[in-house]
Amino acid sequence: MKEKIRLVDDSGIRTDGRKPDELRPIKLEAGVLSNADGSAYIEQGKNKILAAVYGPREVHPRHLALPDRALLRCRYHMAPFSVQERKSPAPSRREIELSKVIRESLEPAIFLERFPRTAIDLFIEVLQADGGTRVAGITAASLALADAGIPMKDMVAACAAGKADGHILLDLNDLEDKEGEADVPVAYMPSINRVGLLQMDGQLTPEEFEKAFNLAIEGCKRIYALQKEALKAKYLAIKEAVEEAGQK
Ligand code: UDP
Repeated sequence: MKEKIRLVDDSGIRTDGRKPDELRPIKLEAGVLSNADGSAYIEQGKNKILAAVYGPREVHPRHLALPDRALLRCRYHMAPFSVQERKSPAPSRREIELSKVIRESLEPAIFLERFPRTAIDLFIEVLQADGGTRVAGITAASLALADAGIPMKDMVAACAAGKADGHILLDLNDLEDKEGEADVPVAYMPSINRVGLLQMDGQLTPEEFEKAFNLAIEGCKRIYALQKEALKAKYLAIKEAVEEAGQK
């Protein structure tokens, strides 16, 4: 029989040294690609993910255009080298499903009705995966949309919580995701208090679910602050470059 791995020790510390309510270290950067209209890069623990946005632009094929709003298209893709066992570069069922849920989690944030008959194309490339790539992908995608100057009701911050070794934990890593009991990914727009994604994989009691959900929302709020900082840092760098050019 497979021996059960201990994911939380007697003092409540996880295998990567975190406390139950602690996020993995996060690095977020906006405007990292010069050939896209907007872009962002996120590192969350060992996850490394790029997001790129084009649009609003003309729709091809034309018959897909919507008369009253922009068409949001999303492709979530994992690089073959992003996981331990080489992944086929062809789109898997999982990637097709994640592309759909990520699109649906971002749609409520964007003023799509301002751009009828156009398309906004969003690409999420997972370069290295370590659990929670859908939520980290949403966080980066939302920052890339803002970087592209697309009007939004709010930024979408996303984070998962779950249960492992009987403990409710924030921001599960790959080991906790695979060996744990449940995973609850959430995408949240703090300023308008709206949830755009709520999934649950595994089993939780109603009380545990409430605890995990509230913890994930708390994680989203912390990530939202980091998104705002990343956007500010980008515009500050532009301002400094313009000022420097003006002095020459
Ligand atoms: N994973 C993998 N191979 C795959 C798909 C996923 O090793 O083909 C790993 C990867 O680290 C991913 C984790 O399993 O982050 C959890 O995947 P899940 O489907 O739960 O989505 P995620 O948590 O990344 O949103």
